[in-house]
Amino acid sequence: MALAATAAASLPRLLSAAQVAATPSSGPFTLAPLPYPADALEPYIDAQTMTIHHDRHHQAYVNNLNAALREHADLQALPIASLLAKLDSVPADIRTAVRNNGGGHLNHGIFWTTMKKGGGGAPRGELASAIATAFGSHDQWQETMARAAMGVFGSGWAWLCWDPARRTLAVEPYPNQDSPVMQGKTPVLGVDVWEHAYYLKYQNRRRDYVDAWFHVIDWDAAAARFEQARKA
Ligand code: MN
Repeated sequence: MALAATAAASLPRLLSAAQVAATPSSGPFTLAPLPYPADALEPYIDAQTMTIHHDRHHQAYVNNLNAALREHADLQALPIASLLAKLDSVPADIRTAVRNNGGGHLNHGIFWTTMKKGGGGAPRGELASAIATAFGSHDQWQETMARAAMGVFGSGWAWLCWDPARRTLAVEPYPNQDSPVMQGKTPVLGVDVWEHAYYLKYQNRRRDYVDAWFHVIDWDAAAARFEQARKA
């Protein structure tokens, strides 16, 4: 009986930090469900990676963001992109937590909603024209994006973003969970190159994962984000 009691008492310590953090917290920020089944992006992105990535990693960013903002009702009321666009006005003691976890929440929210089953190919319309203007051709954009993704040392993202100051599209690498909104730009489409995004299926072959990601891009969703960015 003593043994059973000891085992029960030590149970919480057997849970990893990620598992503990993956328990949903109560708002203000919440994790939306994946907009498709976890296996929808197979064979390009596997179901196990999608489940762990969304349910554990993204949930942890949401929970940690909520924890950081617990005493800051004014900041809780802001849309996440607005909060990250003015990090300088976030109190210094929570700024790094908001940058990392708020960035993680925003980035992943865009990531899930700009992929779909049967995606890939090339965009049509205004986004296609803007990509041709900025990069020469769709193929050249793709190579620019892949090179940016490969150029991220350690963890981070490559983003196709709208630069409102220059009125053009740009491809830029970002470290950790930094976001284009922190530079006054609007993210249109991004690829997560943290190892948690691809290691189970691709191990160290990041380029294979990036090449696979091109096959699941939801260009209609990216075009909608682009239209909104350009009008803002
Ligand atoms: Mn991620």
